[in-house]
Order: sequence, then C-alpha cells, then structure tokens
Amino acid sequence: MRIGLGTDVHAFAPHRKLVLGGVLIPHSQGLLGHSDADVLTHALCDAFLGALALGDLGHFFPDTDPQFEGVDSLQLLRTVYDRVLEQGWQLSNADTVVLAERPKLSPHLPAMRESLAGCLQESPSRISIKATTTERLGFIGNEEGIAAQAIVLLHQTV
Ligand code: MG
Repeated sequence: MRIGLGTDVHAFAPHRKLVLGGVLIPHSQGLLGHSDADVLTHALCDAFLGALALGDLGHFFPDTDPQFEGVDSLQLLRTVYDRVLEQGWQLSNADTVVLAERPKLSPHLPAMRESLAGCLQESPSRISIKATTTERLGFIGNEEGIAAQAIVLLHQTV
C-alpha cells in the first residue's frame, strides 16, 4: 500500500467562481488562481502524487503555463489519476476536509463527492469529504480564503 497527503490554500477574490470538488458553489466571491482554483481537487491531486512520490501539482501543471489558465481542475485530477493507474495502483480510499468559514458547504458535500468519484471512475464510497470552519480564527475565519487537506491510500492492482 501507499499513502499520500495533500494540502492547498487559495485566497478569495471578487468576480471569480467558487468551484470545490468540481462543483460550482453559489457565493459572493470565488477563489483566485491560475486554474479554476478548485482547492479541494488540488489537495486531492497532491495526495495522489505524494503517494507515489511523483512531486507536486505545480511541477506537473506549472501556473506559468498558459495552457492551464482557467483549466477545469477535474482535468488535472484525471491526468494525475491516470498516472496512478498506469503505475499499477488504485484508490483504496480518500479522506478530505475543506476548511471554510463561509459559504456553508454541508448542502454541497454529496454533489462534490459524486463529482470527484465520477472523475476518478471510482465508487463514492471510497471518497470522504468533510467541511469545517475555524471558529472565525485566522485567514479562514476572516473569510480571506479556503484551505483543503486530503489523504489517500492506494493498493496495488498488479
Ligand atoms: Mg491550488
């Protein structure tokens, strides 16, 4: 088995969409980034890459490369997971958490789970998405941005 950890943070900015786990979430502002700034999907990508010691997302998809400008992060996740499969590994389970003061994410968690499972073509039962606030503490509590953490466990398929 292999285990991997991913963390990501993006700042809020006006006139941006808020996309988490590939799901468009209605909110007064969105996250700033070169791609769609899907902080949850980025953390999950980094967890997969970490599990196989392949580096990080910025190495694979540099934010200086115009080809990734505004890119749907699910495309990045699919590319990363294809690499995992090619190397003879498969997802056992992923556990994730999104840290955000607002918006309230609990109504969106089922759709986010379906979205990530669909992207990976794995059962939603293998994917956990949780949300928490930071009790109004720090940059997350001040609604300056959102953070996400992900951990994955892989098993060998060959
Ligand atoms: Mg990111």
